[in-house]
Amino acid sequence: MIIVMKPGATKEQIQHVIALVNDYGLKEHPIYGTDRTVIACLGDKRAVNKDAIENAPMVEKIVPILSPYKMASLEVKKERTQIPIGPKGFPIGGPAVGIIAGPCSVEDRRQIMTTAQAVRQAGCIGLRGGAYKPRTSPYSFQGLGLEGLKILAEAREETGLAIVTEVIGLEQLEPVAQYSDVLQIGARNMQHYPLLEAVGKVQKPVLLKRGMSASIDEFLLAAEYIINAGNPNVILCERGIRTFEEYVRNTLPLAIIPALRERTHLPVIVDPSHGTGHAYMVPPMCLAAIAAGADGLIVECHPDPEHAASDGAQSITPQTLSQLMPKLRRVAEAVDRTL
Ligand code: PEP
Ligand code: MN
Repeated sequence: MIIVMKPGATKEQIQHVIALVNDYGLKEHPIYGTDRTVIACLGDKRAVNKDAIENAPMVEKIVPILSPYKMASLEVKKERTQIPIGPKGFPIGGPAVGIIAGPCSVEDRRQIMTTAQAVRQAGCIGLRGGAYKPRTSPYSFQGLGLEGLKILAEAREETGLAIVTEVIGLEQLEPVAQYSDVLQIGARNMQHYPLLEAVGKVQKPVLLKRGMSASIDEFLLAAEYIINAGNPNVILCERGIRTFEEYVRNTLPLAIIPALRERTHLPVIVDPSHGTGHAYMVPPMCLAAIAAGADGLIVECHPDPEHAASDGAQSITPQTLSQLMPKLRRVAEAVDRTL
């Protein structure tokens, strides 16, 4: 349920209501809006005396939360969540669209430094790159690990870009949280609940990718795990789903953007690289995603895709990226955003 406080409720009055819901065994998640505070209360509500809470000073009303995901839902928070990322604190989910680009995996220092410079010059806000890679085959390149994280951190020092890199398991959480700005949870881990809870306890934004066969409710419930564990800064990322279709690696359902915007206040970004699997499809799908209302993009970009250690076929070059940016800007402006 949600307790809606009247405008002007004081800190003490809000604290009083929180103490009351705690007495009933519920966990509180206060959301401080611009004109009023609402307190989402989660837990077993059977023993709660709603009338008693409604009687507390400055309580306006109590309403049930109908959606299965509570904290992620628009019912609890109407204002869109903006999540500052990286050393410059670029707000993902604000009026400006943010582009994150970089290789699938960190291969060596030169590859990352070259890409980072190009990505920054193109006007992107973040650098992606996996130091730990969740590969389908155990014989494929598994990433540079800690060394890769240190290279990414050096690229941040040089460029000021936000570093986005994947946490593939609980063991990698500590080093990734130490070196990166945004913790990526990959499609394969979207339902790794202990990992979701663990990133929920870290004070860094999380980029949560949709599982390749996850429904929209499962996707939002995965986000709910992270928020419920204490981290409200979840960026949702559509990266394509498995279908019968074979001309693409995954089918990229851009209709999820308006669907998510109807259901959640969390920012939504799109990954057209994994979403299509083919570099030539990436620019048009980037344009389409922004036209459909995405808050940002995460794109695979490699200086030498033909020799990439992973996902070369879906990686665009820095040159393609720099040619794409002005077009993305024009589409962003056409839908009342900036870039
Ligand atoms: C990646 O970002 O390189 C990656 C492995 O993505 P996904 O989890 O979407 O497959
Ligand atoms: Mn990849």
